[in-house]
Amino acid sequence: MNTLSLITPSGRLTLGNLLGALRPMAAAAGPSSYFGVADLHALTTPHSPALLRSRVAEMSTLLLACGLDAATLFVQSQVPSHRSLAYLLECVASTGELNRMIQFKEKGAVSSRASLYTYPALMAADILLYRTAEVPVGDDQRQHVELTRDLALRFNREYGEVFTVPRAVHPPRGARVMDLAAPERKMSKSAGDDHSGSIFLLDPPEVIRRKVMRAVTDSDVGASAVRSDRAQKPGVTNLLDILQACGGSAAGISTYGALKKAVADAVVAELEPLQKRYRELAADPAHVTAVYAAGAAVCREVTAPVLAAAEAAVGVG
Ligand code: AMP
Repeated sequence: MNTLSLITPSGRLTLGNLLGALRPMAAAAGPSSYFGVADLHALTTPHSPALLRSRVAEMSTLLLACGLDAATLFVQSQVPSHRSLAYLLECVASTGELNRMIQFKEKGAVSSRASLYTYPALMAADILLYRTAEVPVGDDQRQHVELTRDLALRFNREYGEVFTVPRAVHPPRGARVMDLAAPERKMSKSAGDDHSGSIFLLDPPEVIRRKVMRAVTDSDVGASAVRSDRAQKPGVTNLLDILQACGGSAAGISTYGALKKAVADAVVAELEPLQKRYRELAADPAHVTAVYAAGAAVCREVTAPVLAAAEAAVGVG
């Protein structure tokens, strides 16, 4: 069974990426899992070419450090069939569907790059090219995978059975890690100017501790119990989720201060081995480049017949 999941290098990887996507991806990693860096998706908003390259390098190294080495790893732009299939899927998607995509509604309301509007078709191409059965992603990707399913079903109905219809799989915990400073929004690679609410995977332990100790809890004075309640206590609930996802326990914890200390300890312990592995890998960039070059070669081979079948079905190529 093939699995695929990509991460966009639109910022630095966060604890949300790790718990929502990278850890489940590592658990699923094998020869038929295709994981990588979606650099083309980072072109949908204004970007710096030099910064993009350095982020792709850091992210490629981090994916290896997260234990994804058993998968086929690649950088999306090195596999040209993604772009080719995306166009065919733009010809299957409707403007009504693309208008409804949350990301376009949030970021593209006034004026944006045309690619921000069409990128769900590129994302569908990413998934469908690998005859993917399962897409391990965080909760925020539900809508994209739904659209991919709709496009695959429509294509198959109109032009013949070419695509496997995929489904999203989400981790039981950590599928939606929230921002520490603003727990009503998800922790993101690019949110907030000071990044005080995002824990980055390469943050030093003292920075992690500072961010956690400053996390927004809840102002329910007189009822400051440590308990999960997503509606009434989003900050505390998020800390409890993070603690449990990082292998800690809230048993016996009754104050916000003690909770934050436990969360900081658990996150530092979770990230320590990953950061050590990152430093080792970063010292050998040629190795990382070779892993991704070999992965892209495999991907070009695996995707060529799927693209050819899709082209033949619609009457081109
Ligand atoms: P992105 O950061 O949008 O490139 O997403 C990369 C992967 O990380 C996707 O599978 C997302 O669903 C997942 N992800 C991103 N942010 C979070 C978050 N705050 N909590 C859980 N998963 C997340």
